[in-house]
Amino acid sequence: MSTDEDLFTDPPTTADGVIEAVAEAPIDAVRLQFTDILGTVKNVTIPPDQIKKAFEEGIYFDGSSIEGFVRIQESDMRLEPDPSTFAVLPWRKSDDGTHAVRLICDVIDTTTGKPFEGDPRYVLKRVLDRAREMGYEFNAGPEPEFFAFATDEGTATLEPHDTGGYFDLGPKDLATDLRRDVIFNLEEMGFDVEASHHEVAEGQHEIDFKYDDGLTTADNVATFRAVVRATAAEHGLHATFMPKPVAGINGSGMHTHLSLFTSEGDPAFYDGDDEFDLSETGKQFLAGVLEHAPAITAVANPTVNSYKRLVPGYEAPVYVAWSDVNRSALVRKPAARTPAASRIELRSPDPTANPYLALAAILRAGLDGIERDLEAPAPVRENIYEFDEDKREAYGIDTLPGSLGEALDALEADDVVLDALGDHVAEKFLEAKRQEFAEYRTSVSEWEHDRYLETF
Ligand code: GLU
Ligand code: MG
Repeated sequence: MSTDEDLFTDPPTTADGVIEAVAEAPIDAVRLQFTDILGTVKNVTIPPDQIKKAFEEGIYFDGSSIEGFVRIQESDMRLEPDPSTFAVLPWRKSDDGTHAVRLICDVIDTTTGKPFEGDPRYVLKRVLDRAREMGYEFNAGPEPEFFAFATDEGTATLEPHDTGGYFDLGPKDLATDLRRDVIFNLEEMGFDVEASHHEVAEGQHEIDFKYDDGLTTADNVATFRAVVRATAAEHGLHATFMPKPVAGINGSGMHTHLSLFTSEGDPAFYDGDDEFDLSETGKQFLAGVLEHAPAITAVANPTVNSYKRLVPGYEAPVYVAWSDVNRSALVRKPAARTPAASRIELRSPDPTANPYLALAAILRAGLDGIERDLEAPAPVRENIYEFDEDKREAYGIDTLPGSLGEALDALEADDVVLDALGDHVAEKFLEAKRQEFAEYRTSVSEWEHDRYLETF
């Protein structure tokens, strides 16, 4: 491992391989990455000569300064790099050809020597293990959307970078260059980019990468957001994953495709004899997701702004239903060309979600459906946005929580999703989010001034 080229095309995947690569290739910094409970990516950077120590002893850090981790008196945490996550940071390349690289880490509690309960990656691993014990491997494929806005002297504005619309191509779609560079950077980091296009709103984009096992996908979402933001900054733009940055136009979602495979590698959601090609297991999983949808929303839509997206009329879901034909439902069953492509698509998550916690909550809900043999309701094949309340009631269709506050109430009342998060994360998440919602509730917005200041 000595050339630049090898680092991209054939990255090391073992501790020894990474140690060797870092010693021999032109690498000047190693970023050790992990996420806090709110999904913010954190970094500790070490010089290349510390890499062996990082693998042998771990790197110690003060957990009390990380949101939702621990109190000061129990603050010693250790990072253990996962060698399979080694990747070059393509935008951190110096003129002399040296690179910065990153490794995603697990967090270890030094007092017990065990994985730290507050590490979102561990939360997801625990639920993945539960699936494995039931005989399933979990795959997920996200479709994150984002806006690119112009900046003014380095500060983000709400000026869209272009005036393109759905699937538009240049010259209107000025962001083609941005998307192209994002894709190059992602590919250099090992992503399998499947599609990218201009989304419906001005300045809005979607870049889809290939589905993968749950843990890799969560790692990928965390990385993706960093790559998009860093690449946009290089273009003098600000990319945002805020779900509804501009009122009155579409918001940004992160639809997530979900499937289970058996330990033998067979697609567990496929049944060619079924009207929807969906197996009994698939339907039970779907039923579990629908039953726990309100609590999942707190985790998959964790900001005040998330609920400005989940309103009728902008292609975002509002009602708890599934469909094989329309896109107004919470869960869609896309037609699958092959049994292995058999999956369901959950349309509520948005890209502010902590991907580890969101996938943990969703998977646990689906597994609960399987464990309890839940029965999926009939699909709704009409446009639910056009239903009135009576019709929704007649069909037994519930509504997703209308605010972060309502979603947190639903989470607090859902033992299955709380169990997926574990006591530590559930407590810290609820505390941080209750506080966020309380701050919002007591703020006074521009809308209120416009509406009331002169009227009353
Ligand atoms: N932007 C829409 C949303 O908020 C989704 C558009 C689509 O890809 O269908 O979920
Ligand atoms: Mg889209």
